Amino acid sequence: MIFADLHIHSRFSRATSSAITIPNLEKWARVKGLGLLATGDFTHPEWLREIRQSLSEDGTGFLKTEKDFSFVLQSEVSLAYSQDNKARKVHFVLLSKDIDTALQVNEALSKHGSLASDGRPTLGIAAPEFIEKVKEIDNLNEVIPAHAWTPWFGIFGSKSGFDSLEECCGDKHKKIYALETGLSSNPAMNRLLSSLDRLNLVSNSDSHSFWPWRLGREANILDIKMDYKSLINSIREKEGFMGTIEVDPAYGKYHFDGHRNCEVSLEPNEALKFNKLCPKCRRPLTIGVLSRVNTLADRAEPKQSGSFRHLIPLSEIISALNGTAPGSKKTWETYNALIAAFGNEFNVLLNTPFDDLCRVVAKELAEVIIQNREGKIQVSPGYDGVYGKAMIKPYLSSSQQKQQHVAEKPGPNTSFKNLKDFLKQS
Ligand SMILES: [Zn+2]
Ligand SMILES: [Zn+2]
Repeated sequence: MIFADLHIHSRFSRATSSAITIPNLEKWARVKGLGLLATGDFTHPEWLREIRQSLSEDGTGFLKTEKDFSFVLQSEVSLAYSQDNKARKVHFVLLSKDIDTALQVNEALSKHGSLASDGRPTLGIAAPEFIEKVKEIDNLNEVIPAHAWTPWFGIFGSKSGFDSLEECCGDKHKKIYALETGLSSNPAMNRLLSSLDRLNLVSNSDSHSFWPWRLGREANILDIKMDYKSLINSIREKEGFMGTIEVDPAYGKYHFDGHRNCEVSLEPNEALKFNKLCPKCRRPLTIGVLSRVNTLADRAEPKQSGSFRHLIPLSEIISALNGTAPGSKKTWETYNALIAAFGNEFNVLLNTPFDDLCRVVAKELAEVIIQNREGKIQVSPGYDGVYGKAMIKPYLSSSQQKQQHVAEKPGPNTSFKNLKDFLKQS
């Protein structure tokens, strides 16, 4: 069984770490506990060149490092076009089975935009045509709507999205098998829409760096043979698809409605009271994911939401407890001690017993790690591009406690002591 993060970016995408290289990605994927990682950005010629230099094909459809770590070819594209007199911008994740196929995809897509200008290229092509072109090259190419609910680039986003998969993809919607829930929504929220019942729900980090509080912060739990066909089968048919690791949706940058410049964050019903206008500046609020899900939902209770659990990255809970940044020296010291003792982050977060944790770190942190495992850490919701914050109680100032505002949203159906219990539920 492995944890797989199927959507990341290289240093050739905008706003990414310039230190992203294949060796760095392998190093930190291992620290995190991932068994399969996306390459990101295979549409970018320079990054693809680097992929070909650093990784080798062995016929499985995955690309391997010298130390046998597996990558899968992945890119993300931004489609920009107009439909029904509205400007549309939708992001799709793309998976391919080998370099040869990726080159053919790049050749076809290069007719619609400059692939070299951004690791996540903008293409002037509508979704149905894009899906058709990619599938024509190879039916095993996978197309997945990325972070489906985010306001600007999600297929269901409030700014430039659609109200249904069919509205966006036309009759090519049948070629879509899965949806990426994104950080600001979880499977239970998505299962409030009967129209999404036939789709699998995948979770990925969309990471712009290799740091362990980004890489693998959302991931898929797979019990598959380590080859591309089995991966696609798990995405399409859920065979060996055991569930997902999610951050609390409140942690995502677009969970609530809000206005970043005015530091206004509103639960959807509150936003309605203000007519969806910012109470400070009277301009329209950025309508977040919770609000969009509520608008499109046709069920009061989620149906068959499957197995998933909420986990805040280890660096973030250490840093929340310490009151220092995730990348601070103090946080790293504690983080590194835990990794040295227990192998990787997912093992610390999901499996290591309380008593064992206490041998390495203070009891207080061990308690918070268990609370995290049981999905009991509350998160003050993100809004309009601002991440949500883990609220770790003993260290909250009284003003933070006043601000603490927890969204009502469907959570995981139960809590689990460890990964085995979790998987028993699926
Ligand atoms: Zn995106
Ligand atoms: Zn405002």
